[in-house]
Amino acid sequence: MVREMTKVAVEIRGFAVHASGAQLVPYKYEPGELKANEVEVRISHCGVCHSDIHLIDNDWGTSKYPFVPGHEIVGTVEAVGSDVQDRTVGERVGIGWQADSCGVCEWCRQGAEQLCANSQPTCVGRNGGYADSVRVNSRFAIPVPEVLVSESVAPLLCGGITVFAPMRRHGVNPTSRVGVVGIGGLGHLALQFAKTFGAEVTALSTSIDKEEEARKMGADHFVNTRDMAEMKKVAGSFDFLLSTASADQEWQALMNSLRPKGTLCIVGEPPSPIAIQAFPLIGGQRSISGSPTGSPQDLHEMLDVAARHGVKAITERFPMAKANDAIAKVKKNKVRYRAVLVN
Ligand code: NAP
Ligand code: ZN
Repeated sequence: MVREMTKVAVEIRGFAVHASGAQLVPYKYEPGELKANEVEVRISHCGVCHSDIHLIDNDWGTSKYPFVPGHEIVGTVEAVGSDVQDRTVGERVGIGWQADSCGVCEWCRQGAEQLCANSQPTCVGRNGGYADSVRVNSRFAIPVPEVLVSESVAPLLCGGITVFAPMRRHGVNPTSRVGVVGIGGLGHLALQFAKTFGAEVTALSTSIDKEEEARKMGADHFVNTRDMAEMKKVAGSFDFLLSTASADQEWQALMNSLRPKGTLCIVGEPPSPIAIQAFPLIGGQRSISGSPTGSPQDLHEMLDVAARHGVKAITERFPMAKANDAIAKVKKNKVRYRAVLVN
């Protein structure tokens, strides 16, 4: 069989940030030769995850400029490296937070590539998806089921998997009482997945205008986290509480909302350390945990679940060249519920 070795880009054009908090500006770079295990993907859509904003603003102190943000990518395989067996030219794929891993460590061998010490994020130390093309290890380019629409599936590649994976790991099921804190890009997908898993679902939000839509997404109950009287009413309510908020929270009130043996799982990244009292943790055998993205296998499974159960992001579309407008709107918590850049 003659492998179709199609046109490899000589130049990739996108939008990069050159300093902490700066505006994105047009940018081009030469990707060089396509590596044997890589695919080159022509990007049609890229979601704007709040992690892009943390990276742009150097909130984690790890950003290296200039770089092209973007890690919720959907596009079409344009070229495959000489060793790639699992992807073909013309295939529609999705790419999330991770672009590569070592492939041989204990965690990669277990199929937990997200824990690989040499994991390479799609837009940290590499250029990501606010561009016309991107290259990743073919293992991290996941085929997208045909029924899923590119614009509404792009946000699942990071936002979706980040909430799906811990709910699966914690065995969320019809006996579970699940709370989701922060109904943004991640949170609105968490409500849908929690409902799909059969749980009783509560949305906990600082934005009371989100109540009606949160209920449509699967919330049985809605709690205003700024109202301490409402928070008191939900004390001892949840088996699994997923915090997706990017801002500091009343952590003790959230811990108090757990049932005995309940878990608070942190996926959102607030700026300050999380301080909680030990006693309610000890007395109720409660846990606090964290969760990163999922593995390629988790991504395959999540997309399959989304396709069969109709989980999809509610999006606001922006042309790629208007990425700065999208970012400004995310910063104001005004996007309902995920901005997606379109080429
Ligand atoms: P987003 O769309 O901006 O949503 C964040 C939500 O946090 C907001 O919609 C808001 O929900 C809530 N929030 C609570 N207090 C707030 C306040 N004082 N100001 C603004 N918002 C407040 O962000 P996202 O893309 O879902 O990402 C959420 C967080 O998860 C970010 O920190 C991101 O870096 C992190 N993240 C982590 C992973 C991981 O691997 N663990 C992956 C992706 C993203 P309400 O209006 O309902 O209160
Ligand atoms: Zn993300």
